[in-house]
Amino acid sequence: MNTGTSRPTILVTNDDGIDSAGIRALWTALRQVGNVVVFAPDHNWSAAGHAKTLHKPLRAERVDVDADDIEAWVSTGAPSDCVALAVLGVGGHDDIDLVVSGVNMGPNLGQDITYSGTVAAAFEAAISNIPAISVSLDARKDEMTVENFRRGARIATQLARQVCENGLPNHSLLNVNVPPMQPKGIKITKLGLRFYRDELVAREDPRGRPYYWIGGARPTGDTRREGTDIWAVANGYISITPVNLDMTNTDMLETLHSWGVEDLSL
Ligand code: MN
Repeated sequence: MNTGTSRPTILVTNDDGIDSAGIRALWTALRQVGNVVVFAPDHNWSAAGHAKTLHKPLRAERVDVDADDIEAWVSTGAPSDCVALAVLGVGGHDDIDLVVSGVNMGPNLGQDITYSGTVAAAFEAAISNIPAISVSLDARKDEMTVENFRRGARIATQLARQVCENGLPNHSLLNVNVPPMQPKGIKITKLGLRFYRDELVAREDPRGRPYYWIGGARPTGDTRREGTDIWAVANGYISITPVNLDMTNTDMLETLHSWGVEDLSL
């Protein structure tokens, strides 16, 4: 961890690809806090989850972006691969102090974080014990404006400064969601409950074989349970949720003992 005497090195990634307006807003703003290295996928990986590409080669190459002082890389891998490649030494940065992922086109609330490529990139950093922040914009397509992305980048930048100063507990990240308007304020939240409305679309290809598409409307969520990320953003607040890699259901440890699971025959 950087102690504040020199500028921290901040790795910026996303899951919408190097050309998205959200990552541009992020790298532009984060230059105020540290030396920015961009390592992004070459195409959109939204909902790619926490991938690790082991069975095919990954390519990574330098690209020019709109800022001369930014070193940028694109990779054929998933967002989590991008973080892994950078942490493992592609680009020669053995001093990454913080990973910031986003600003994603769309929310990552509640159970979304298990699907999200944006949050997966932050999880990948947390696995290597590098503090991480994921930032997402909860907006419809017509609300994906530069102004809204900048708002997400602005809050990420202030959080980045705090995280560089204070650190994060081991294997932790901050998941940030921003509403598509001037926020009423900021709420520290828990993960809420998403309601997915997936529908199976089954069709036939030209050779008569069936194929399937997962369709359906945008998910909704439990907007009434106060203190959750879904409640906060639905009510016009920026949501900041601290997230742990440890997914142990601690309450269930005792329950499993009461079932006698350890006494099952071997
Ligand atoms: Mn995305």
